[in-house]
Amino acid sequence: MANVTSYGAASMVTGSCHLLEIRGVKILIDCGMIQGESWKSNYEPFGFEPASIDYLILTHAHNDHIGRVPKLVKEGFRGEIIATEATLDIAYIMLLDSAALLEEEYQTQLKKALRRGEESSVREPLYTKEHVEMVFARKMRRVAYEQTIALAPFLKITLHNAGHIMGSAYVSVAYEEDDVRKSVIFSGDLGSKNRLLLNTLTPASYVQTLYLESTYGDREHRCLEESILEFKEAITQTLDEGGCVVIPSFALERTQEILWLLHQMHQEGSLRNCRVFLDSPLAIEATKIYRKYPAQLNQPVGLHVSLGDDPFSFPELVLTPKKKDSIEINDVQKRAIIIAGSGMCTGGRVLHHLKQRIWNPKNAVIFVGFQVQGTLGREIIDHEPFVRIYGEDIKVRAKIHTINGFSAHADRADMSAWIAPMEGLRTIYLIHGEIDKMELFKTYLRERTQAKIHIVKPRETIYI
Ligand SMILES: [Zn+2]
Repeated sequence: MANVTSYGAASMVTGSCHLLEIRGVKILIDCGMIQGESWKSNYEPFGFEPASIDYLILTHAHNDHIGRVPKLVKEGFRGEIIATEATLDIAYIMLLDSAALLEEEYQTQLKKALRRGEESSVREPLYTKEHVEMVFARKMRRVAYEQTIALAPFLKITLHNAGHIMGSAYVSVAYEEDDVRKSVIFSGDLGSKNRLLLNTLTPASYVQTLYLESTYGDREHRCLEESILEFKEAITQTLDEGGCVVIPSFALERTQEILWLLHQMHQEGSLRNCRVFLDSPLAIEATKIYRKYPAQLNQPVGLHVSLGDDPFSFPELVLTPKKKDSIEINDVQKRAIIIAGSGMCTGGRVLHHLKQRIWNPKNAVIFVGFQVQGTLGREIIDHEPFVRIYGEDIKVRAKIHTINGFSAHADRADMSAWIAPMEGLRTIYLIHGEIDKMELFKTYLRERTQAKIHIVKPRETIYI
């Protein structure tokens, strides 16, 4: 009987990895990195034989959905990889970046261990750039949204727009078992409605079994329009006072959303005599991919493209892929906006900019993404009077703005509205969430659907 075993993102938020088995065909849905405290468990065996997998479907190119793909190939996966074109393009740059970080960390640890004479204790990187190249040398099927493909005479899959990030998809699987037609959907990550750049996720009308993400199953987001106003006001105020703005940002989606908002501010005349630095090689590359797929952009942004305008560029924008150019930003004393990673200030070029700017009350730091407990970003938004950056305690005097309405994830109301028209829905399996939030989501959904709801446990096999 068809079954699904969840090897990741079961009662946790990262490491998405679900194995679907139908009449001997094995399909892996996502193969993500485990992030946070359990990071070391990425080194552990998958729990299944990578060589036995026939197909790997990637829902989208966030690291917690693709981050272990090079490990999968390294350990023997020889099947076909299926995803949208944009997802595969983005996955390539994301995985190369991830491999570079893993190799860099390995070299740092090795140097330290050599000084102690303990080099044999240092573990090899989880994978290297060569393994990423091995992934992309494999056979891949680039599919469009709504294009149905047969993986066996009794088994078809379709990818639909999930509205989460560029290229993101949810997967519907239609199959026959004992002459009975059945269907299951894997949500991947779903986007909230009214996204800044993307079309809202596609409705689904009929399905029996649903594997549903639960990241924000416990809440409803703030209104996007309010967040946009707040963002623009924080920038205008800082620039008017002759200060500089630092925006710690994720390279994918959030940076492109910010560029689009700044593009609007340029047209409104609010960026006069100002320079905007995009100081992230990964974000610069990701933005090129956003330009490559204009059909995926929503109507207001797409309209600009059709008029020959670039929604992610404006005259004040300066790209600084090289380290040398990044360092020169230090000389700019006023009226500048610096967008740099990492989004939670756990590393990357943003640390240098914070060190240069956060002590000055004329400046501002604008947080546009969620800050996890234990990160520097979280310390700053929690109003710590001093923060430690590169071994130096620095007084936080800049204005700190936290803008919460830009989430790329659907909230519980969005997800409930998406489920509502699904006829025939018998069971919802909750995945990809923190357990307390999933319990709240379960209670919330119970009042809104007749379907049974079950929270999936790690490595639990469910017969569907
Ligand atoms: Zn995601």
